[in-house]
Amino acid sequence: MTADTLPALGAPATRGRVDALRRQLRDAGRRSLGFPNATDLDLRGFADLWRTPLNNVGYPGEATRGFRSHTLELEYEVVQTVADLVRAPADDRTGLVTSGSTEAIKQALLHARDRFGAVRVYASTAAHTCIAKIAHQLRVPFTPVPIDNHGELDYAALSAAIAGSAPGEVPLVVATAGTTMVEAYDNVRLVHAALDAVDVPADKRHVHVDAALAGLALIDVPDGIRPAFDFADGADSLNISGHKFLGVPQPCGVLVMRDSTRGPLDRTLTYTGSADLTVTGSRSGHAPLMVWLALQQFGRAGLAARADASRATARQATQWLREAGITTAWRHDLAFTVVLPRPPAAFLARWPLPVDGDTAHIVCMPGKPRELVRDFVTEYAAAMHQPRSRALDPAQRGADQKDAIAC
Ligand SMILES: *Cc1c(COP(=O)(O)O)cnc(C)c1O
Repeated sequence: MTADTLPALGAPATRGRVDALRRQLRDAGRRSLGFPNATDLDLRGFADLWRTPLNNVGYPGEATRGFRSHTLELEYEVVQTVADLVRAPADDRTGLVTSGSTEAIKQALLHARDRFGAVRVYASTAAHTCIAKIAHQLRVPFTPVPIDNHGELDYAALSAAIAGSAPGEVPLVVATAGTTMVEAYDNVRLVHAALDAVDVPADKRHVHVDAALAGLALIDVPDGIRPAFDFADGADSLNISGHKFLGVPQPCGVLVMRDSTRGPLDRTLTYTGSADLTVTGSRSGHAPLMVWLALQQFGRAGLAARADASRATARQATQWLREAGITTAWRHDLAFTVVLPRPPAAFLARWPLPVDGDTAHIVCMPGKPRELVRDFVTEYAAAMHQPRSRALDPAQRGADQKDAIAC
């Protein structure tokens, strides 16, 4: 197909392609347990708005005389609501809706770099690969820190790494609340203790929390088992993803940060009459609207109930797996993620799962039916009990591993 032979939108060939795409997506959805997208957000009834052009160029809470078709007020409300849920100080908060968690983390670390100058980023080896990528893009050195047996940051190793770094470098620590492969939680209080232990001054550090997957699933976990992950625990900035636990159908994220941790702001006015404070220029107006609708639909009680239901499904999945002879299947107590031995390639072709070395996982997100999990366990156990016909090709293994990180 070339541009001058493009068929009209209503042409049968076009409709045929779209119908084929629909079938393909429906099939893909049927065996989708590997990637952490909730499926219970119901946006029917708002379809007219998807046809309305929206552009949130500018910054939520700042004056604009830009494009009038925007959702900046709703975006401001989203930031305030998420800030409340993660206990950000009422008099020291700012933030925005981004294209995803990567952009949110980049914005937070960009501010920290501009504020401190010489900095070094630390994150565990289980942190999302975007942390190393962002450090590279910002030309900031990055030190990966080892993890313990369950995927949580090794705090003593963090202290040691900081003690061994160049004098004058301000540590920017990215803690992960829900790591990509096993959904482990780094403890923000212990991160601060690790910094105290090597005499890092309280005003010469920044702790960002990457809570992309599960931040809003943790807010009402009872004290005692609630991971220390939010602003009351010492976070300076925190991101969540909109397309994971909230189930927004378009990739997006929310960044909340202490206003006082923003770097020097360039307040040069653009053609919209507002300062250009964002990583990108034109920004989605639909994403904040969808996140706002998700928060309206679920409410605080709904977020907690969905989290509980997902955990119950994950607990059930683990039990089914063990009953089926997969005795090494395990999960963290609060996780939606169930960690499993890596299945054979033929099984992965049918049930796509992220893999990392010898392990794989499923994620029991809100909206994923138990029957789907049941079917998965049955087929998975059958595949694992078959004698393996050939050893895994190590080169192929490396390639698969790279694919796995993409979510
Ligand atoms: C998904 C995820 C990311 C990346 O988010 P994008 O929205 O794809 O940029 C980063 N960190 C964690 C922990 C994640 O789960």
